[in-house]
Amino acid sequence: MTETCQTCRHFRQHYIKMGWRYAPILHGHCVYPRLKPRRADTPACPCYRPREDA
Ligand code: SF4
Repeated sequence: MTETCQTCRHFRQHYIKMGWRYAPILHGHCVYPRLKPRRADTPACPCYRPREDA
């Protein structure tokens, strides 16, 4: 499987504030089936569901 958490609908991106804007970072978290830290480039797990806009 080549998908990663970044394109999964269960992934929540984390950001840092840079002056006037927010920039995405490599880290985030997964909300399904329970809350856990994940990186955007983590290989997808069996619970992977593609985002609507991915
Ligand atoms: S750990 Fe699985 S369910 Fe969670 S964001 Fe990544 S691919 Fe999706």
